[in-house]
Amino acid sequence: MDTILAAVDELAPRLVELLQELIRIPTVNPPGDGYEDFCAALKATFDGLGYATEIVRVPVERLAELAPFGGGRPRPSLLATLDGQAPGPTVHLNGHYDVVPVGNDWTRDPFGGVLEDGWIYGRGAADMKSGLAAQVIAVEALRRAGWAGRIVHSAVPDEETVGVDNAGTGYLVDQGRLRADAVIITEPFGPDGVGIGHKGAIWGEITLHGKQAHGSSPRLGVNAVEHMARYLARIDADLRPRLETRVTELGVTPPEPRSTLSFDTIAGGAATNIVPDRCTVTFNRRLLPGEDLETARAELLAPLEGQRYEYRELYATEPTLVGEDEPVVQAACRAVRALGLEPRLLISAGSDDQRFVVHRAGISNSIIYGPGTTALSHVSDERISVDDLVLGTKGLALILAELLSR
Ligand SMILES: [Zn+2]
Repeated sequence: MDTILAAVDELAPRLVELLQELIRIPTVNPPGDGYEDFCAALKATFDGLGYATEIVRVPVERLAELAPFGGGRPRPSLLATLDGQAPGPTVHLNGHYDVVPVGNDWTRDPFGGVLEDGWIYGRGAADMKSGLAAQVIAVEALRRAGWAGRIVHSAVPDEETVGVDNAGTGYLVDQGRLRADAVIITEPFGPDGVGIGHKGAIWGEITLHGKQAHGSSPRLGVNAVEHMARYLARIDADLRPRLETRVTELGVTPPEPRSTLSFDTIAGGAATNIVPDRCTVTFNRRLLPGEDLETARAELLAPLEGQRYEYRELYATEPTLVGEDEPVVQAACRAVRALGLEPRLLISAGSDDQRFVVHRAGISNSIIYGPGTTALSHVSDERISVDDLVLGTKGLALILAELLSR
């Protein structure tokens, strides 16, 4: 163990440099620019370290379906495989290389990879080019100690644009390219955070129908906007109090332990002298482990019984939760303690690629573990402290050492 920790310390300058290099290749999604450049650069790094590498691309004819926000841009995933000194289990390390758009109010160059006062700045510094850099260096540290088995890294696009199917981890799983005894997704849960799942989600749209009439004689029409107001009021009165009582005992990051529902956009009506015949809201429902999509849909639509409406889903995933007794969860908890920290078992309030690993690939021996914090992700001046980066990399290396010990 000491060999590995010392190796990460020795490799820390290379770790910082690698993260800076990765930040400097913008991979903003949507639409997904710079993907080929990024994969080529990371592939060169793995090639230089003696990995067998391969780039898997979504066929052009499936781009519109799997990457609807991509405007036809390529969707490459990088696979890098390394074998140990003896046969043993396969551990798969997964990370997405796409980053969310920059937004405003940055005080540093979002793609400069600036290192200042112990912090590395840039889009993806936390979420999650840090995790990809940590994967590379953790394995280099492990190699110095010796190990058995196989390590496969996947660097994938399009985690940030979700999808029931997608062009990144979803595609790899569907192609049978993600098979392993254990999977670690290096999202930024921090050196003490062990992610064992995430909330479920439905992103959807409800349109209520009314009937147009002259604005001077509203009784001749059916007002869809006013209908919607009554619907939202009923949700507030009936459903919301029930959701408030559903609270998980698990730690949640960002910290929202309840079942939630949020109506986020509304549109209706054409002009002030027409009774509106349509009103549309979009909503975002987040489900706790133990809830299910069918019930969530029924609860949401119950107040609309007998009315004319359209319902459309943009995204849906069941909640994901793996057992605390899974070997990789236990290994991660021991690794965190070895760092002198108390492990925090967490689920994500959002959803992430673990849904594909657990529900589609059927690998419940999987966790989220990586440097960085979700609180400093998707924000202006996104950043990670070098201490956090190094510590998370040590944690990852120790997990690998346990899973792949000779
Ligand atoms: Zn992420």
